[in-house]
Amino acid sequence: MKIVVIPVTPFQQNCSLIFDEVSKIGAVVDPGGDLERVMQAVEQNGVKLEKILITHGHLDHAGATADLAEALDLPIEGPHRDDQFWIERIPRSAEQYGFPPARMFTPDRWLEHGDKVTVGPMEFDVIHCPGHTPGHVVFFNAASRVAIVGDVLFRSSIGRSDLPRGNHSDLVRSIRQRLFPLGDDITFVPGHGQTSTFGWERKTNPFVSDLAVGEAD
Ligand SMILES: [Zn+2]
Ligand SMILES: [Zn+2]
Repeated sequence: MKIVVIPVTPFQQNCSLIFDEVSKIGAVVDPGGDLERVMQAVEQNGVKLEKILITHGHLDHAGATADLAEALDLPIEGPHRDDQFWIERIPRSAEQYGFPPARMFTPDRWLEHGDKVTVGPMEFDVIHCPGHTPGHVVFFNAASRVAIVGDVLFRSSIGRSDLPRGNHSDLVRSIRQRLFPLGDDITFVPGHGQTSTFGWERKTNPFVSDLAVGEAD
């Protein structure tokens, strides 16, 4: 699997173009905006887009989903249904944050914890990780040991939980009980900023390290 990270929107959200290097079949994860830049990466890499995947309903991750889906007739998979209220809020959020006008959409498939998502020959486990938003999902590709985690976990930080229906203890639980057990070696692409590994965060992250939560041994 190859991943090309394309920072989009004034919030520099990491939109990911993921594709299989042999078949060139791929997907766009979290098309928050700046579709010209996303399409440029698609063309440069000769990717045949199959679908759009969404980690959560925030504007900077999902703002250009409707436009991209319509333009290329692509199905939308994700997030979990509990983020529907965020998706419905996209037009209002765009006005509020001074983004270009953005539309809401209806996913072709809402995702549940334990679901599988395929992109060409690649398979991803769907991990429901509430806390930043209630319907946030993470996409985990076991074959390449990579997770796309949206705004759940960052290098040295975690997602904010002060927004509507956010919950700090849910977020910590999602990270500690659903992400870290996947393995210290897992590389993750966060929604903003640099990539890291679960092992590094388990050692050093001030919010969710073993030391921070009192589980050091
Ligand atoms: Zn977010
Ligand atoms: Zn974000």
